Amino acid sequence: MPTLSPQLLRSRIGKVCVAITGKTTAEVLEKAASTVKENTFFEVRLDYLDKPLLALDALKTFLASNPNTTAIATCRRTASGGKFAGTVTDEFNILCKAALSSFHLIDLPLESAEELKPASMDKLRDTGVSIIISHHDFAVTKDLDGIYDRIHRLSPDFIKIVPTAKTLADNLTLLHFLERKNESSNIIGICMGESGTISRVLGVRAGSAFTFAAATVGEETAPGQMSARTLTDIYRIDELDAATKVYGVAGNPVRHSLSPLMLNTAFRRETLNSVYLALQTTKLNDLLKLVHEIPIQGVSITMPFKQDILPYLERTDPLSAKIGACNTLLRAQDGKLYGFNTDVMGIIGPLERRLKLEGRRVLVLGAGGAARAAVFGLRDKGAEVSILNRTPENAQKLARQSHSKAIKREAVAKTHFDVIINATPVGMTGHKGAPLLEAGDLNTSLVFDLVYTPMETPLLRMARQRNIPVITGVEMFVQQGARQFEIWTGKPAPEEEMLRVVLHALKQQDNFGGTRNGSNEVVEEPAPEKKATAAERPPAIKKTSAIKTSKGSH
Ligand code: NAP
Repeated sequence: MPTLSPQLLRSRIGKVCVAITGKTTAEVLEKAASTVKENTFFEVRLDYLDKPLLALDALKTFLASNPNTTAIATCRRTASGGKFAGTVTDEFNILCKAALSSFHLIDLPLESAEELKPASMDKLRDTGVSIIISHHDFAVTKDLDGIYDRIHRLSPDFIKIVPTAKTLADNLTLLHFLERKNESSNIIGICMGESGTISRVLGVRAGSAFTFAAATVGEETAPGQMSARTLTDIYRIDELDAATKVYGVAGNPVRHSLSPLMLNTAFRRETLNSVYLALQTTKLNDLLKLVHEIPIQGVSITMPFKQDILPYLERTDPLSAKIGACNTLLRAQDGKLYGFNTDVMGIIGPLERRLKLEGRRVLVLGAGGAARAAVFGLRDKGAEVSILNRTPENAQKLARQSHSKAIKREAVAKTHFDVIINATPVGMTGHKGAPLLEAGDLNTSLVFDLVYTPMETPLLRMARQRNIPVITGVEMFVQQGARQFEIWTGKPAPEEEMLRVVLHALKQQDNFGGTRNGSNEVVEEPAPEKKATAAERPPAIKKTSAIKTSKGSH
């Protein structure tokens, strides 16, 4: 039986504990064997097993043959949010046997610990195991100090407090709590929930002894949990320290955004001590509180905040002001916020790599946020812009504001355009809208679809079939992100690397038929080292007025 002091335990574990689940002993052993190849610290959720007691002998043998590992056993009852249907006594007996089966730590829920007699707790302690007493709140983040005091009274070796974040500010409550208690105890703190994912990354920096992760995507044991590889390879949790600069993408929804993958990859490639998080929120005030208190150095702003953020900015670049939307926040040293619109550069950049825009005739489909970025950016470069939109009044209004023209559907086929840009969601995976144009309408030299899921949209397929060169929405996505990186860091963005990981993630999504289990979380898994193929890479920037006519140049 290993008798390791909590301090010695802390020195041999990493920052990530992998939660292992399985219905059968064989399944748990298989997952444990695969986990320990990359991560030697894991928790076995005995409550997921059909017969937990029967698994313990085999787990003891496994731990004996893997002496460098550190293992937690827990058998959480349904009353504590787990799957174990037995009584407190049954739970206790299983955990005692786990303690005698070479597990180093036992996690006992607070509700169970408070029901047990002191003599039972002493019996568990006498096995030499370290005890975690945990509290999970599946509804809110509240009274962390009160919960702490209840746990502290029982003198465990580790105190684990896991509330649920409903807002980003709930993470602040937890992080401040961890900072206050860190000196005096071995504490573990995480917020569950979509809004709590940032605590899974920043918690260890605030003093949490470690955090929990799923063995692989799809095996999460708590809402908002990420996979171990996501935490270590993408968020680089082992490298975070007080000096780490924090960035993020804010909006609703952002859980499945590819921006954390892309920007964290860029930070890693440029060896910057920075991390980029998904900031899921429905309220702008919630975001602003987080930005000022963490503090967050820069934010990618997505729906629904692109317009609403403007009154909170000290200044914006001239195009953001014209467009009336900002997608990039920069927080200056004095805490003031500056706004930029890199969506414009994400559209204009790829076009200018292929043609000079001055005097070109461009048709923009749509009159929403992305269309506004396209239209004002194009007008700024001297292009002649026509706008076609489902609601003609919106096209007319944008045309008036930008000194462009609104065009009728029937006029499209009769007009030659140098470029047609789709700035509507039509063609996006899961969107039901009917195609806006037919093959005969593509009287153009270039088609740019801003939609990037799927990469090959019906519009792009139709254009390629007619030998019309295309630009994919992936190029816009990478370009707008690359410009954000440059605004925040002052360094050139590693565009090739950013493109590579985004393409890899999108291909994985496509392989899983769009999204897996209704989620595209599979994209968080890091991509193997490989350059983008020539067909996927955009052409290098060059000043030319001629449109390339060869097919598949990107
Ligand atoms: P938005 O502000 O909601 O505007 C949507 C526009 O599309 C509106 O003009 C709307 O017309 C039109 N529309 C919506 N559904 C339609 C349908 N079924 N048929 C015809 N028109 C329809 O959205 P947004 O922010 O501009 O984004 C538009 C698309 O651009 C997104 O879906 C996304 O795929 C893409 N995008 C890509 C990137 C990138 O990095 N690649 C960045 C931003 C956006 P009404 O005026 O009639 O409502």
